[in-house]
Amino acid sequence: MSFDYDLFVIGGGSGGVRAARVAAGETGAKVALAEEDRYGGTCVIRGCVPKKLMVFASEYADMVEDAKSYGWSIAPGKFDWTAFRGKLEAELDRLEGVYRNLLKNAGVESFDQRARLVDPHTVELADGSRKTARHILLATGGRPVKPDMPGAELGITSNDIFHLPELPKSILIVGGGYIACEFAGILNGLGVAVTQFYRGAQILRGFDGEARGLVSEEMCQRGIDLHLGTNILEMARDGDGIRVKATNGTERVFDQVMFATGRAANADDIGLEALGVARGRKGEVVVDEYSQTGVPSIHAIGDVTDRVNLTPVAIREGMAFVETVFKGNPTPVDHALIPTAIFTQPEMGTVGLSEEDAAEQEPIEVYATSFKPMQQSFAGRSDRVLMKLVVSKATRKVLGCHIVAPGAGEMIQLAGVAVKMGATKEDFDRTVAVHPTMSEEIVTMKAPVRSA
Ligand code: NDP
Repeated sequence: MSFDYDLFVIGGGSGGVRAARVAAGETGAKVALAEEDRYGGTCVIRGCVPKKLMVFASEYADMVEDAKSYGWSIAPGKFDWTAFRGKLEAELDRLEGVYRNLLKNAGVESFDQRARLVDPHTVELADGSRKTARHILLATGGRPVKPDMPGAELGITSNDIFHLPELPKSILIVGGGYIACEFAGILNGLGVAVTQFYRGAQILRGFDGEARGLVSEEMCQRGIDLHLGTNILEMARDGDGIRVKATNGTERVFDQVMFATGRAANADDIGLEALGVARGRKGEVVVDEYSQTGVPSIHAIGDVTDRVNLTPVAIREGMAFVETVFKGNPTPVDHALIPTAIFTQPEMGTVGLSEEDAAEQEPIEVYATSFKPMQQSFAGRSDRVLMKLVVSKATRKVLGCHIVAPGAGEMIQLAGVAVKMGATKEDFDRTVAVHPTMSEEIVTMKAPVRSA
């Protein structure tokens, strides 16, 4: 049977674009890709990239303050949101162009429209035209979800934050995950009065307890009004603001309310049900370790599969798909020991097991140190950082490494190599410290602080 294409990719985010261009560029496959929105997807257009630029923007006020302690006569000016937003939009336009060119240069044909599945080898585009392909790859990503409650439509999500006409004077952020905590720090740094409600006992559920405890403490120190064990009951318009009734009995008016209450897979209305492609409890597309769905010609990668929802993981999954399907080299995706960073202020970098999860698995030793870093301490700040290793008593392997510090994202990438290689505590010990740095403490911790 002959097809229009060897591969049709639905979704032009990081995962879909990588799979399309590698399949076309490296294997000579005839590839098409459909994207209904902007090329680059969540990461480039409304996630990691604009978020990180906002993190940078938000850090300058403190830097200016600290510069004074270092002898500079300097005063913070005013943050100009409109000027920054203009530059940000121009940068995103540039990056979208880069993504389009990557596809074009690899010989991928792109369609700027929505596509849905018709049968195991056919997709239908929004204009009604149909295309056939030997393989179809779903890389449709995810989207933020709001809780179902009275007035929820008044709240914004991370998709909207980059487009605000002006920065609010006050904002309530709901949630305690990556997105809620990162934007609490960003907006606080930009001068917005930030209140955060998290329904649980401590933010960043699932991460190392001591590390998230320190992030939470530092966020409060920096002026974020964090309320744990608190959620919204209902919200309603009140003049120019939004009146929020909370579970703790309070009622307050905020300029904006942002929900960062999780994300859902973009898997609705694309024809999965009729083809019998299975979906999981949260609506995600169910795949095996080769990213194959129950329909052999249809694969899925990235957030739509809700495995580990991170850009580099989607890219890995896309590469493994091409390796498996187009290069004849079956390659399962390795989801073990993925380093990750949360761009809170201070950042958290983490790889491997939390102390709590490791202790459930086997007897462990914990090495940890918390101290005031030189640069901030000299500037008169009371900020603390944390370096922590969770070590197996039996094998001496480092099971988890957790860093809370400025630049922790950069540090954990490198520590991640050692942990992925199976480094033991003694391997860390015999590595000479780089002095004077914060990260040298990761190789100078002599005695365990506790065993479990
Ligand atoms: P998360 O799933 O991490 O967090 C959702 C938060 O919302 C949790 O604190 C959750 O509470 C809370 N929540 C869920 N439902 C409700 C509700 N009905 N009412 C109140 N609170 C609720 O989602 P995010 O949106 O923060 O991030 C999504 C994913 O995106 C992350 O898991 C991560 O994979 C990725 N990401 C990665 C980043 C990075 O690498 N730096 C940055 C941003 C996102 P509870 O804990 O009680 O369930």
